[in-house]
Amino acid sequence: MVDPSLRVREVTKTFPAPENSLTRRLALDCVSLTIDGGELVSLVGPSGCGKSTLLRLIAGLDAPDSGDLLIADEPITGPSAERGLVFQDPSLFPWLTVRRNIEAGLVARGVLESQRAEVAEFMRLVGLDSFADAYPHHLSGGMAQRAALARALINHPKVLLLDEPLGALDAFTRMRMQDEVVRLLQARRTTSLLVTHDIDEAIYMSDSIVIMTPRPGRIDQTIPVALSRPRDRGSSDFLALRSHILQVLHFAGSNDPAQNGLVAT
Ligand code: ADP
Repeated sequence: MVDPSLRVREVTKTFPAPENSLTRRLALDCVSLTIDGGELVSLVGPSGCGKSTLLRLIAGLDAPDSGDLLIADEPITGPSAERGLVFQDPSLFPWLTVRRNIEAGLVARGVLESQRAEVAEFMRLVGLDSFADAYPHHLSGGMAQRAALARALINHPKVLLLDEPLGALDAFTRMRMQDEVVRLLQARRTTSLLVTHDIDEAIYMSDSIVIMTPRPGRIDQTIPVALSRPRDRGSSDFLALRSHILQVLHFAGSNDPAQNGLVAT
């Protein structure tokens, strides 16, 4: 099977303006992007530029004012298990064990019996097999996020949407998890879109980086990351790309990174 691509074509989205609900404010302005099948693309941009709005449209949780969104050649018309979501908060069900959390999507779709064998496989894949009967409050932040990833991946999503999934982790766990997520996604060739505020994370993990402008969100540019894997965070090529992206984001010189919520760790 060919890995499904994700296409966003000339998508515009407005919301009622906070100061006057009779008028509408542009959140996304003619946004187009393509993620080829099996690729991981990062979306980077200042707070309020429309990253979450775009993710919600791709998830099918909201509809654009104009433009269209396609997976392979199929339009996105609503939520579907074929698009997995992982958020900063792993939002596991606290009353269910790790195993039952990972099974939850299969239960909801009535396919647990036919796919039960995969539950053990996915727990192994994310290194949680010895925690199958533990409850979420027994897990570290990294483990909980691995359980959330397994819960999304077990549905074999055509596209995985990751909204700052590692944002709440400490720096060391975060770097380890970046390796694990890349390994999981590459092994499965899952087409993925990662929203992150961390430039190093975007360079370390993705095949290309899409940079958005401040509101209204437009695509400023797409920067391919042509570094071989596993990537060396200290290599001159990595650092040169980092410096280039920071320039693009107008970090260099007088602009204050803290103002737009972006970090370079
Ligand atoms: P980001 O994720 O990049 O921080 P968002 O997608 O959350 O940005 O928001 C983009 C813009 O759209 C912001 O100005 C925000 O206030 C506005 N917005 C997002 N969702 C809504 C909503 N449901 N109602 C009104 N305005 C919204």
